[in-house]
Amino acid sequence: MEVTDILLDLVSIPSVSPMSNAPVIEYARRHLAGWKVKLYPYRDAAGVEKINLVATTKPGVAELAFVCHTDTVPHDRAWTEAVRPVIRGGKLYGRGSCDVKGFLACVLAAVAKVEAEKPLAIVLTADEEVGCVGAKFLARKKVLRAKHMVIGEPTGLRPVSAGKGYALAEIIVRGKEAHSAFPARGRSAIYDAARVVTMLERVAKKLEARKNRAFDPPFTTLNVGLIHGGTAKNIVAGECRITVEWRPVPGQRGDWTAELIREALDGLRVDATLDVKRVDPAFEPSATRNLATMMESISGRRATTVSFGTEAAHLSGLTSEVIVFGPGDMTVAHKSGEFVPVKALNECVEYLVELIQLADSG
Ligand SMILES: [Zn+2]
Repeated sequence: MEVTDILLDLVSIPSVSPMSNAPVIEYARRHLAGWKVKLYPYRDAAGVEKINLVATTKPGVAELAFVCHTDTVPHDRAWTEAVRPVIRGGKLYGRGSCDVKGFLACVLAAVAKVEAEKPLAIVLTADEEVGCVGAKFLARKKVLRAKHMVIGEPTGLRPVSAGKGYALAEIIVRGKEAHSAFPARGRSAIYDAARVVTMLERVAKKLEARKNRAFDPPFTTLNVGLIHGGTAKNIVAGECRITVEWRPVPGQRGDWTAELIREALDGLRVDATLDVKRVDPAFEPSATRNLATMMESISGRRATTVSFGTEAAHLSGLTSEVIVFGPGDMTVAHKSGEFVPVKALNECVEYLVELIQLADSG
């Protein structure tokens, strides 16, 4: 089957994170005749069944493992091509075409083209878009051991050898409600929150000073994405909530930023608490560069780094070396009109075939 036909099929199977990914797993399974398939199902917080799949050609340590998530982000209802994919002007449009069913289609097309002698593995995960839930589950269970691992994400067919981490927190600022005609009887949580936001801007500057030149931007970024406070125009605000995220560069503890914020909060003399909701580790560069070098020479593109989170940070414990790689551009993913160039799909299949052959001879 052509890679585009596989991808048209895959995009036609809706698999937005809250839905069960079972139909995608079932579809992939039909392409893996002769592989030993193990399923690792679990129920998500809403009770929906999610399935992780680990397929291998031979027992023992896999020479090369391909990892791909099966869920997608939601799509606008008005975007009718989201699950009715089309090819137009050399691009295949549809939800997940780029992130990341395109890579899955390439893997399925590539393994059908080669008779691999050495042990290969394919790992399909659930719930990547909602916090790498499936990958964390598989990492905890240590479901496989692989020498080299390629995790699919749209990287424009450039091997990626390191990535930033991700952390999310909420700062709750408490004041005292009062009638707005008598502000002195209360304390405005919004005024205090403004001080906190100004402080966060200073923390962001501090983070900027610690450079890691492998990244663009070359430091841990911080963003105040949401602020919500007060109940009415004539009430002194009693509470204000600030949502803040940061993306730590490798080599820096993910909770270092939290420590900086806490210290700074202590100095502000406002009633505020920091509630860290999530700290995902950075994707640290592997000790070896064999796989990255192989992919550099196959693709003719230099290895790079990314500022978005991937499953690599969670799965690196299962392998000696991991890279992130795939067709398409992350900047067109996660929005209406998502697409992947057909040329990139065909190139990716060629590269993966070559990589499998190299793993076989190596
Ligand atoms: Zn993705």
